[in-house]
Amino acid sequence: MAQPSRQADIVFVGAGSAGLSGAVRAGELGLKAVVLEKLGSCGGDTLIAAGFWLAGGTRFQRALGIEDSADGLYRYLMEYSSYRCRPDLIRVLADRAAPNLEWLESQGLTFQADVHAHGTTSVRRVHQNVGMGPQYVKVMKERAEQLGAEILLKTGAKELILEGDRVAGVVAETAAGDTIDIRARGVGLTAGGFGKNDEWVGEHLPFKSRYTMVCAGWARGDGVRMARQAGADIADLDACIAYKAEMPDTAGLSMRSFYLLLARDYVVVNQLGERFMDESIWNAHFAHALNVQPNATAYAVLDETMRTANPFYDFAKEVESGRVKKAGTFAELARAAGLPADAFAATLDRYNAGAREGQDREFGKAAGLLRPLENPPYYAVELVPLILNTVGGPRIDARARVLGPGGAPVPGLYAAGNNTAGFYDSYPSTGMGLQMSSIFGQVAAEHLKQTL
Ligand SMILES: Cc1cc2nc3c(=O)[nH]c(=O)nc-3n(C[C@H](O)[C@H](O)[C@H](O)COP(=O)(O)OP(=O)(O)OC[C@H]3O[C@@H](n4cnc5c(N)ncnc54)[C@H](O)[C@@H]3O)c2cc1C
Repeated sequence: MAQPSRQADIVFVGAGSAGLSGAVRAGELGLKAVVLEKLGSCGGDTLIAAGFWLAGGTRFQRALGIEDSADGLYRYLMEYSSYRCRPDLIRVLADRAAPNLEWLESQGLTFQADVHAHGTTSVRRVHQNVGMGPQYVKVMKERAEQLGAEILLKTGAKELILEGDRVAGVVAETAAGDTIDIRARGVGLTAGGFGKNDEWVGEHLPFKSRYTMVCAGWARGDGVRMARQAGADIADLDACIAYKAEMPDTAGLSMRSFYLLLARDYVVVNQLGERFMDESIWNAHFAHALNVQPNATAYAVLDETMRTANPFYDFAKEVESGRVKKAGTFAELARAAGLPADAFAATLDRYNAGAREGQDREFGKAAGLLRPLENPPYYAVELVPLILNTVGGPRIDARARVLGPGGAPVPGLYAAGNNTAGFYDSYPSTGMGLQMSSIFGQVAAEHLKQTL
């Protein structure tokens, strides 16, 4: 059944970081925003995010004596991507990142005083909001509603309303099957990645064989599909947030290997029983290095001393079910995990000898992370690359306008967050996803305001 049409200045398709920040900003600018959310609660990936925000030149950094700036962040992001990402988008992101933390504080979020170094830099520029993703979603949803936004839950956007070459609104469907036309001057595609669309993931991502995807929300690629409907130029569908490693199937696990891997003192071997990296490298590099190993599979190996030292190493249930292998010697552990015993034992002997000397001659792991495995039993945890979601979609300009193949904006159409192209191919640092989504959601509202 069709419900009466609604009118708005801007409709956001998806209530994650991009849609909620966009709706708050729209409200501040006196614009009427409608936010459509396919599921029964707001948040998508934003809800399960750890609440890290990347920013250079913040008051938090200054208070800790950390020298940094928007320019420093810009250079880092451009160099990390070998200048393959879009300088105009990164410029906006870098310039607005520190002010955005203040804007978020003004909405009611608070940030931890400490600032962390992630990625391939030692500069500490990763901030964390108190209460992480859930707090962001709660605060921003309430704030958007206070400012007049209408958030329609269980209401999925189906297609754009096109008038000539102009986007004039969205057709949505409620859980009861009713359709609603929302006519608007601008539509913001903020529907997140397509990590739950197996067909597209298989077709586009470089992670073809084995991986674990942990994204939340609807994540079927509706933002990309709707951008295509309007004739947008689509790019970077092979880009994703590859972020270290997980067990191949997380169903029923009592522990998440991702947390287990935070310690970085374990050894990682591939199915040939060989190490292939310094186990402490940046999370994105870890995932990509693992992806090119035989069968994209590896094993984290640890001994009893390591297991008892880390509160996350509680995997008794996984040992009992056989998902984590346990044995008294390296040879037995290799047999249990199906690894070549001689090669595996030789790898561990070499690692242990280096660790006792405080030197990793093969991969240069820092001495402080080198600990010989010499206290049985030993454990082997199977790992495949962990992917948080995809990040390709329509190309946008620095005002979040969706671009057509010739580079001209598609009138009335904006995009922000994980369903946009141009920000990165390999994830440059924790804190990038929330920041780019939040900033460009706001940029969309600001540009629309300027056009009225
Ligand atoms: C476990 C995890 C931890 C993370 N931690 C961090 C972190 O600490 N810091 C950081 O910067 N990044 C982090 N990220 C990445 C970050 O969460 C994302 O980059 C960011 O949240 C993306 O925001 P978004 O608004 O684009 O998408 P989302 O937050 O995913 O929101 C998209 C929303 O759109 C909805 N939707 C989809 N299709 C439709 C439709 N047709 N109609 C209506 N609604 C629709 C979805 O249900 C969803 O709610 C993490 C990701 C994961 C998975």
